Amino acid sequence: MNTADSRRLASSLEYLGYAPTDQAKNADVIILNTCVVRQAAEDKAIGRLSSLKPLKTQRPQRVIALMGCLVGVRDPEPLRHRFPWVDVFLPPSDPAPLLDYLTQNGLVDEQRALEASALAQRLHLKDSDLALPARERGRSATAFVPIVLGCSHACSYCIIPYRRGPERSRSSEEIFSEAEALAKQGVKEITLLGQIVDRYGYDLRSSDGKANETANDDKANPLINLLRRIHQVDGLGRIRFLTSHPQWMANDLIDAVADLPKVCEHFEVPVQAGNDEILARMRRGYTVADYRDLIHQIRFRIPNASIATDIIVGFPGETDSQFQDTYNLLAELKLDKAHIARYSPRPQTLATRQYEDNVPQEEKERRRKALDYLQGEIVAALNAQLLGNHVEILVEGRKKGRWWGRTRTDRLVFFEDDRDWLGELAEVKITWTGPWSLIGEPVSEKRP
Ligand code: SAH
Repeated sequence: MNTADSRRLASSLEYLGYAPTDQAKNADVIILNTCVVRQAAEDKAIGRLSSLKPLKTQRPQRVIALMGCLVGVRDPEPLRHRFPWVDVFLPPSDPAPLLDYLTQNGLVDEQRALEASALAQRLHLKDSDLALPARERGRSATAFVPIVLGCSHACSYCIIPYRRGPERSRSSEEIFSEAEALAKQGVKEITLLGQIVDRYGYDLRSSDGKANETANDDKANPLINLLRRIHQVDGLGRIRFLTSHPQWMANDLIDAVADLPKVCEHFEVPVQAGNDEILARMRRGYTVADYRDLIHQIRFRIPNASIATDIIVGFPGETDSQFQDTYNLLAELKLDKAHIARYSPRPQTLATRQYEDNVPQEEKERRRKALDYLQGEIVAALNAQLLGNHVEILVEGRKKGRWWGRTRTDRLVFFEDDRDWLGELAEVKITWTGPWSLIGEPVSEKRP
C-alpha cells in the first residue's frame, strides 16, 4: 500500500515540476511514508524522521512531510508538538495536505496542484504518462494497485483500522483506467491490494441502496467482476490480488482464479494462529477447521496453487501447547510461504486494552525461530521438486549481474544472461533450489 501511495505521490510531484533525487540533503521536499503495524516499524520510522531534523535546521525553507500510518486519519496536532520540524502531515493514501501546503506557500501553481491532486487520486487519469514516476516508466514490470482502502474488520491486535480509517472501495472504472495506464507504461503484472481484498465492492452502493456497477452484471461477487474486467486490459500478462481473509474468501473466487488465465494461482490468506481459543481472542472470525477446509478447497480446485500465510506468535496468554497447535498446523499444511511476526502491542487496539503482553520477548523469539526453521524446511522440500523443471518468470530487474523475477506462484528465480530481459516473460530451467530462491538458465529457443 505504501509503495503504491509513494509512487502515486511521486508522479504528482513530477507533474508539479519536481524531480527525484537520491540524496535527502539535496531535496527541496522530503516525504517520509510510514508503517506502524508493529512497534519495530514505528521505531524505525521515528528514527528516520529524527535523522531529517538537522536537514530542516540547515535549510528551514525545505519542506518536510510525514505520511502514512504514523499520521493516520486523526488530528495531527499532537504530532506537530512532537515533531516540530515537520511541516505537513498526510494520512495514508491522501496526498492532498502536501499539495495544499505547496500551493498555499506559493511553491507551486494552484491550478496545477488541483490537477495533480485529481491525478494522485486517479480520479481523472487523462494522461497515461503520469501513471508512474518518470524514472520507472518502461522499467517497472510490476505495480501495486490499491482497490480497497482502510479496514473495518478490527482484529483485536491490529492498528490498521485506527490508522487507515474505515473500509472504502475504489470504483471499478477508476481501477480499470489505472490498470490501462500502467500497462501503457510497460507494466506487465499488477497486484490488486486491500486489507481484506475479498471485501472489494461491498461498500459501493448507490443512493437507492442497490449494489453499484461493479456488482450488477450477474450474481458474481464484485472482486470477481473486477478481475474479469481487468483481465481485458491489453498488455497485462499477470494479475494478483492480496490479502484474502479466510472468512471472506469465496469459493467462486477460487474458480475465477482457475478460469482466468492472467490471474496467478497464488493466494495470500493469513491464518494468524493454529488454535481456536487464540483465534477467537484475535477476533478473526473463523476456526482452524474452517482454515483447513479452505486450504483443501484451494488445492482441490487448483492443485498447483501456491498459498502464503501470516502468523503471529506470542499473542497474550498463548501457552506452549497453543503455540504447538500453530506449529503442527504449519507442519501439516505445508504452505508455500509464512510471514511470521512476534506479537507487538499496538495503541488503541482491543488486545492492548484487554490483555497483558505476557509472553516474554525471548519466548516470542524462540517461537518465531521454531516456525521459521520449520517453514524453511518445508519450502526447501517444495522447491527441490522443481529441480530440472521449466518455469515461467516475469523478469523484474537485474542484481549483481543476475536477472531476477518471480514465477506465477511467487517464487523468486535468478538467472544469468547477457541479453536484455527486463519486463519479459522468460522460460527458465531450474538448476539449483534453496528455501528462499531458485537459480535457472533461460531455455535457449525462447530468448527474445
Ligand atoms: N489486513 C491484512 C494484513 C495486515 S498487516 C491481514 O489481515 O492479513 C500484515 C500482518 O502483520 C498481519 O497479517 C499480521 O500477521 C501482522 N500483524 C498485524 N498486527 C500485528 C501486531 N500487533 N503484532 C504482530 N504482528 C501483527
